[in-house]
Amino acid sequence: MRVVVDQDLCGTSGQCVLTLPGTFRQRERDGVAEVCVATVPQALQAAVRLAASQCPVAAIRVIESDAGDGERPVADPAPSPAEGRAACARDQRHPGGHDGTV
Ligand code: SF4
Repeated sequence: MRVVVDQDLCGTSGQCVLTLPGTFRQRERDGVAEVCVATVPQALQAAVRLAASQCPVAAIRVIESDAGDGERPVADPAPSPAEGRAACARDQRHPGGHDGTV
């Protein structure tokens, strides 16, 4: 499963980040949510679906398949929740390259 945030829709409430800080983060400059994992670990998939359903502006889209139209499956294994949080923290120290559509 993958998840994306429509950054044009995001209302910057931060709800998804509070719920799943290892999966979502907010850009420092404007508070728009971004996704910081390539694929959603199995253990977090139900929580991500719930976060998507609770987004007040429906900006979170869940993609059930790891491979989209014409895309190859993601080769890297999904990080654990702890690895996801660490990756988010690393990326926040070195921003850039994330457009919310990982
Ligand atoms: S819950 Fe929705 S509106 Fe709030 S930060 Fe996340 S994506 Fe943006």
